[in-house]
Amino acid sequence: MKKFLCFLIVLSFQIAFCQNKEADFIITNVSVVPMNSEIVLKNQSVVITDGKIIEIADARKLKTKAKQTIDGKGKFLVPSLADAHAHLPENDTELEKYFKLNLINGVTKLRSMRGDSKHIEMKKKYNTENSYYPKLYLSSNPITRNLSFTKEEIAAFVKETKENGFDFIKVLSIKNQELFDELNTVCKEYDVKIGGHFPSNPKGVVISDESFFGSNYTSFEHLGGLIGEPNSFESRVKSIKEKGLYACPTLQWYIIGYGQFSVEDMIKQKGMQFINPETVKEWTEKTTLYREKTGKKEFEEEVALYAKELQERRTVIKRLNDEGVPLILGPDSSSKFIVPGFAMHEEMKSYQKAGLTNYAILKTGTVNFANLFNENYGTIEVGKNADFLIVSKNPLKRLDALEKIEGIYFNNQYLNKNALEEMSRSILPN
Ligand SMILES: [Zn+2]
Repeated sequence: MKKFLCFLIVLSFQIAFCQNKEADFIITNVSVVPMNSEIVLKNQSVVITDGKIIEIADARKLKTKAKQTIDGKGKFLVPSLADAHAHLPENDTELEKYFKLNLINGVTKLRSMRGDSKHIEMKKKYNTENSYYPKLYLSSNPITRNLSFTKEEIAAFVKETKENGFDFIKVLSIKNQELFDELNTVCKEYDVKIGGHFPSNPKGVVISDESFFGSNYTSFEHLGGLIGEPNSFESRVKSIKEKGLYACPTLQWYIIGYGQFSVEDMIKQKGMQFINPETVKEWTEKTTLYREKTGKKEFEEEVALYAKELQERRTVIKRLNDEGVPLILGPDSSSKFIVPGFAMHEEMKSYQKAGLTNYAILKTGTVNFANLFNENYGTIEVGKNADFLIVSKNPLKRLDALEKIEGIYFNNQYLNKNALEEMSRSILPN
């Protein structure tokens, strides 16, 4: 009875709301790609108030009025994207450009993978209540094998990481097993998550799988521990699955770094017009010099060898996906010829080559990321944050639909096509 009364109160509240109060925003007649299953809901109206989706209904039946209405006829509404492997530039001008490169590509969340104490201030400055800049998820200053910690020091480091507001501890590599176990003990004590490279390296410091899979790691980068390790492969896949670890393959970083394209083709990539000409010149010169120095035949051999490894990476991505391991999307745009934002689309295309469906690929950049951080976005459902893109083609059919963003709803505001075009122009080099 009590439950029923509650239901009635909620229902009458909703009716009263729908009849009397204006919503903030409605997108009408739009095809919704909800990403909670592989479907498209046609002719829908999506109603938003206070940054939340409060109603999704058949456009012909909707009675709700709103302060602002956008006609979504012929368009698709899909959750916005998250880059799970970001490297934040240091200075404000570069950082702002970096944010905008991401936004014009539909990326509204960034997980920083190379932490710095300055990032907390950065987050305070850019992730304000009314900011449209992507939301930042921050890693601590990285732990590397060159760093020694006493028991007290590692405890202080973890405690400080948490108190300062970082989202997780980043491990690039670690001195030894003892330190790894100590780190993990304090991370458990303070409830701090770990992310980063697979810490065990057969050519360097070896950490037992038992320690790793018993640790507070929630995600690992670059398919570490799986590539080139056939003896441990099956047992690790099993443990990754059982532990529910998230994998961030960063395939684009390898494709570019492994010399798979000619310099001319890399210069012609989408988004390169946003890179300063001096930087493009520097990238070109360095790459050309390396290739010349290596020698034509030797370089071709190197490329062929790397192509083999890339095939192994694709096979592993497919396997992990088939096993139900959640993949997260991040091209690792920290290196030459990888343009932030634009590279997200290249990363998605490379998963297509690995044999993933478009639905599985879209999950890596939307719902999987939201689940990693336990966030209330990543799907289009009533009660979720309004955090989505408007595109003109169905991304489940064509991933390149996401390369032409017509609108972004994020952090309680709407950036329309004009705003996004204006933003693009503002970051073109003079
Ligand atoms: Zn990286």
